[in-house]
Amino acid sequence: MQPDPTLFGIRGFLIDAPEFGSLRSRRDGAIIVKNGRFAEIGDYEDLRKRHRDTPVRWVDRGSALIFPGLIDCHTHLPQYSAVARGESQLLPWLREDIFPVEREFTGPRAREEAPLFFRELARNGTTTAMVYAAIYEDSCEAGFEAAERSGLRVILGKMMMDLGSYGQLQPKKILSVSLIESERLCRKWHGAAQGRIEYAFSPRFAVACSEKLMRSAAELAQRFNAYLQTHLAENREEIEKVRNLHMSALDYTDVYEKCGMLTPKTMLGHCLHLSSREIDAIAAAQANVAHCPTSNLFLASGLLKLDQLLRAGLAVGLGSDVAAGPELNMWQVMRGALDVQKARNMFEPNLPRLRPREAFHLATAGGARALGKTAAIGSLDAGKEADMIVVDLAALLPYGNQGKRIDDLTTEDILALCIYRGGPHATLETYVRGNCVYRAPEPATRV
Ligand SMILES: [Zn+2]
Repeated sequence: MQPDPTLFGIRGFLIDAPEFGSLRSRRDGAIIVKNGRFAEIGDYEDLRKRHRDTPVRWVDRGSALIFPGLIDCHTHLPQYSAVARGESQLLPWLREDIFPVEREFTGPRAREEAPLFFRELARNGTTTAMVYAAIYEDSCEAGFEAAERSGLRVILGKMMMDLGSYGQLQPKKILSVSLIESERLCRKWHGAAQGRIEYAFSPRFAVACSEKLMRSAAELAQRFNAYLQTHLAENREEIEKVRNLHMSALDYTDVYEKCGMLTPKTMLGHCLHLSSREIDAIAAAQANVAHCPTSNLFLASGLLKLDQLLRAGLAVGLGSDVAAGPELNMWQVMRGALDVQKARNMFEPNLPRLRPREAFHLATAGGARALGKTAAIGSLDAGKEADMIVVDLAALLPYGNQGKRIDDLTTEDILALCIYRGGPHATLETYVRGNCVYRAPEPATRV
């Protein structure tokens, strides 16, 4: 029988969290991948026996951990080179530390950096990312080309700004140019690579966008069934500015609502300082939230009231928000989510605690839900697309192989080790649709 190149089995310790609060695991587990999807999931011995007579190519990862691919719902391609820079809060930080970097991120720079950026995402175990590009069309185009080649699942969009934009290109025409270029990029790239690449219309935030731009971006997103991404209520000074710019609006959220920007395909970054009216409006529109805790701590923006958003039924994913977040590493973003809720607990002891399994859920199935992709990704379930990562637990254990044995650890212990000590040094392989898009250069030591 001819070997089927799309068919393989992988053995490891399977862990996922399909529901908020749940944790599933299978110690000596295995997954059969066929045509880019999870075909069967079970115990290794059972699957091995069942497939004795089929030409399955086995990838034996022993007791390495297999997780669904990590999902980054909010990050900025042109900013990565400027991580950990600046000591101010959002608006001066943008002005002094970020706009100069984005302004330089023209076509040639993007062609150089974008492939490295996506490689870095894969190395960190991120399989899906929702990303802002700079304002230039050719720069965004280079981002799409690199995203397509990377094999990752990427939702990307050209940054839109027509008020005080760092570009200051043809100030009179900047609105129409922004719309025309965004539409052209969307037509070319939305749904490319069999749907692995998608477009997000990306008005930066209400401080930098006219109502006309926001309304037009929302209309375009609806026309093409594309995504829409923006920032909301990240910082007190920003909110004050929006209040002064949009005197007739009820609040910040109302500005977006009036422009038609709250939709089920909208990803709202941050959402730190919202009233209950605003939370209800977002919930009613079924818009989604990207929680970016490492960014919020870096810029001292605030502590997300996660319990309130979840109680209202909002879909919440996690975002690295590089370069306000210092790393693309989603394990560290999960840790940040735990730290933020712990900080709140110090002042509000009656709040529910956030547990590692719940932070992990937000970075996988939660992100998938926020992107409307629950049917395709986010957990290790038969029928879903085979986005997964293989992680070397020994790389995270004190004393590596000489320390505690994996058999002595509970699944919760293992997940906590990944969250508090995880990162690219422990990623062995990253798969999207069953294709290996990253493999550690040297086999790391195994447990
Ligand atoms: Zn951002």
